[in-house]
Amino acid sequence: MTRTVLAAVMPAPRTPIEIREFPEPELPPGGALLRTALSEVCGTDVHLWHGRLAGVPYPIIPGHVATGTLDASRGPLRDVHGHLLKEGDRIAFFDVHRTCGRCLACTAHRTPTRCPSRRVYGITDSANEGLYGGWAEKVYLEPGVVIARLPEAVSFESYIGGGCGLLTSVHILERARISPGDVVAVQGAGAVGLSTAALARRAGASRVIVIGAPANRLELARAMGADVTIDLGSSSAAERHDRVLELSGGLGPDVVIEAAGSARAFEEGMAMVRHGGTYVIAGHYTNVGDSTINAHEHINRKHLDIRGCWGSEAGHFLRALTLLERYSHEVPWHRIPSRRFTLGQLNEALSLAEQFAIPKGLVTP
Ligand SMILES: [Zn+2]
Ligand SMILES: [Zn+2]
Repeated sequence: MTRTVLAAVMPAPRTPIEIREFPEPELPPGGALLRTALSEVCGTDVHLWHGRLAGVPYPIIPGHVATGTLDASRGPLRDVHGHLLKEGDRIAFFDVHRTCGRCLACTAHRTPTRCPSRRVYGITDSANEGLYGGWAEKVYLEPGVVIARLPEAVSFESYIGGGCGLLTSVHILERARISPGDVVAVQGAGAVGLSTAALARRAGASRVIVIGAPANRLELARAMGADVTIDLGSSSAAERHDRVLELSGGLGPDVVIEAAGSARAFEEGMAMVRHGGTYVIAGHYTNVGDSTINAHEHINRKHLDIRGCWGSEAGHFLRALTLLERYSHEVPWHRIPSRRFTLGQLNEALSLAEQFAIPKGLVTP
């Protein structure tokens, strides 16, 4: 008798999530199954639901980040460090797979996040192909997926609380090249902004400013490492600009990080970053329209360094685990998801995430 696995499927954009039964897959040599403890609902899932991401092969099982225990494997299975894994081990995996290692992006340009073959669990893998998403009782880990043991000090809740936002933040920090003593402003208090504030503080920033909303999110930002928060809801753009300049010696922050996904935020950030400073754009994951920028005033004359930041690499996943192991006792990543949802409650979870009522939700399949 074939065993079955329940999964929540997004059949198409703007259609309700359905629970479907899948046969438990026959594993090929090197393949494995994760018994899901937790997955997440994040902003990406809302974009998927809105049909805002290109080339998504609906129906899909969303949930690109998941963690749990090793349920089964065919043949000996090793983690990325080369250690043998056994059934019941607490593991996490890197959601990006099949980067080819041969194309221009992977080799000459050294930007594997732009590899055209790159696939991502829960986003670019169709439910017709199997259990490729975390909104399921089990996730199929195909041969070659990067697997790591969850460090003992890291709870499932902290791992998913950090989740994709933490991986993005590790990449942002790399792109931002924060120097000790820098004043850093983060635009956005979603999952990415919160983790970025935490990491900027630990990277030696002398002052971390978070601009966002609502008030409870800003309270969490301060608990994560922000020194000062500015409420987007009760300030004008001019007031935010003046306040940020006042908090950075009248010069503007050395580094500004956009994690807001708003064309207006981009304009504000370009205006507030100091001359010769760095601006990292990480929130424009979908096209939110044009911004008005004067190349002379905002870029050339300011001698600005502007950097995009797209996706993450296995190294960011492993660094995220190391950071969680070192800091999760003092950084409340577990507080980012404010609610738990079963597979049957994911329509509600998506509508709450759509209204920005939750930065992220925990999924308990
Ligand atoms: Zn490639
Ligand atoms: Zn995500």
